[in-house]
Amino acid sequence: MDCANPVCTLDASALVCGGTCAATHYCSNECHAAHWEEHRALTGCRVDGAVSRIKWFAILRSEGQRNKLMRKLRRGSGGYTAAQLEELLGVLEGYGYRRKRKYNAIRLTVREALGDAQREDEQGEE
Ligand SMILES: [Zn+2]
Ligand SMILES: [Zn+2]
Repeated sequence: MDCANPVCTLDASALVCGGTCAATHYCSNECHAAHWEEHRALTGCRVDGAVSRIKWFAILRSEGQRNKLMRKLRRGSGGYTAAQLEELLGVLEGYGYRRKRKYNAIRLTVREALGDAQREDEQGEE
């Protein structure tokens, strides 16, 4: 499923707006923020003003979608950025996935992918 931000073509099946619409898919907080004014006008979506943008996102509430994401992450970073992965893991943990044996293996895979991305960032700054 493509990101709802019309200028973006990235896959956004795993992330959905955390506002009252809880239905529009975005690939990232950046796209959500960029498209926010139009999204709000189109859907009447609202967010709790006290909630940071990063919390506007939640993984799809269905267990099937969460398991699909787990299968994807088992093979690596799934093409998500470091910030998205941190967010996705946080959401999975919110659903109690930390207690699942498979989750720990996935977390390691993802941490490795994140570590690699961070090392690349550090090299880029030098
Ligand atoms: Zn929304
Ligand atoms: Zn996007």
